[in-house]
Amino acid sequence: MDIYTKKDAGLPAIAGGKPVRETKIYYGHQYIDEADVEAVVDVLRHGDLTCGPKIRELEDKLCRLTGAKYAAVCSNGTAALHISALAAGVSEGDEVITTPITFAASANCALYCGARPVFADIDPETYNIDPQKVEEAVTERTKAVVAVDYTGQSAALDPLREICRQHNLVLIEDGAHVIGTKYRGQANGSIADMTTFSFHPVKTVTGGEGGAVLTNDEALYQKLLLYRAHGITRNADLMTHEPDGPWYYEQVDLGYNYRMTDIQAALIISQLDKLPMFSRRRKEIVARYNEAFAALPSLFVQREIPESDTTRHLYILRIVPERLKIDRKQFFEALAAENVCCNVHYIPTYYFPYYEKLGYRRGLCPNAEKLYEEIISLPLYYAMTDEDVESVITAVTRIASYYAK
Ligand SMILES: *Cc1c(COP(=O)(O)O)cnc(C)c1O
Repeated sequence: MDIYTKKDAGLPAIAGGKPVRETKIYYGHQYIDEADVEAVVDVLRHGDLTCGPKIRELEDKLCRLTGAKYAAVCSNGTAALHISALAAGVSEGDEVITTPITFAASANCALYCGARPVFADIDPETYNIDPQKVEEAVTERTKAVVAVDYTGQSAALDPLREICRQHNLVLIEDGAHVIGTKYRGQANGSIADMTTFSFHPVKTVTGGEGGAVLTNDEALYQKLLLYRAHGITRNADLMTHEPDGPWYYEQVDLGYNYRMTDIQAALIISQLDKLPMFSRRRKEIVARYNEAFAALPSLFVQREIPESDTTRHLYILRIVPERLKIDRKQFFEALAAENVCCNVHYIPTYYFPYYEKLGYRRGLCPNAEKLYEEIISLPLYYAMTDEDVESVITAVTRIASYYAK
């Protein structure tokens, strides 16, 4: 999908017909090397394609990476959120508190379980869910909180855990952006009751598709395994009847087929070897962007909390509308004219017609709605060269200066 070549009334490149970059750069791209290719080919040549040893190997690796006791990998990050909500016991009539500044899956997982998502507003400077607003949204029906580590910066996990402890709620961390980040020195993935990862190609580590749930709780882990695979078990402790042969298994609950293939697992294992390198490069690019944009009064740089040692998945450029003659849409188009092809993350979830049909209305979360009017996701990925980074900075600086008020 190319959303950048639509020829509407976009602003031209600042220097007339000459864009800052000759070739287009996009907001995200995977990095695949020979080791990744070999890992996949090796499974195709010699391995089990699914339910094989690569699944366990990846789960062990995720536990070592994060310090979590248990990991259950699954087909994608959305499936990871769904089985987490099921394991948390979310069902008909319950409420699940989440942020509107996220991908729709963070709230959809509550709907899958028959529960109602309740949107709590964000902190206006970190853009993560505001624990105070979460506290205010708790009712007797609340069962869980889905906290998103937006852009890869950790959500305020300590205050959120405290709120969940006080009200007996399950804290699910949607960590689709967070792999590689630490909160107070501890890797995200071992802190919330459950943390979900996504391995979609725009995320820091990819398997084409893929997901995982990490937890320290053995009971939750057993439920995750069930919901991932049809509710079927071979564990004698969970069975009702005596096995009538070695083939015997039982379906003890209603689950899904959310399995990952060994092909994906092999790719993710190989990608994880590069995580320190991915992380270092992303931090370098973010530092360079922050330094350049902090100097421009028409731009606001996302606040970083000291507790989070962040591997950033997204870089959010935020305009200060009072200081510019153009709005976010025009800024976005002006960047496209310079061949810097961006995106916007995210449209507040409750703006979508499906949510409108469910009765949600604009005005629920003013900080989130204001943020949405002012943001653009800039290119950020491992394989960007220094020249790429500098060309993005030049384009942004040119536009911000040219249209400054
Ligand atoms: C990508 C993403 C998901 C969904 O992950 P998939 O693997 O694409 O299903 C969920 N939440 C957030 C915040 C995401 O960015």
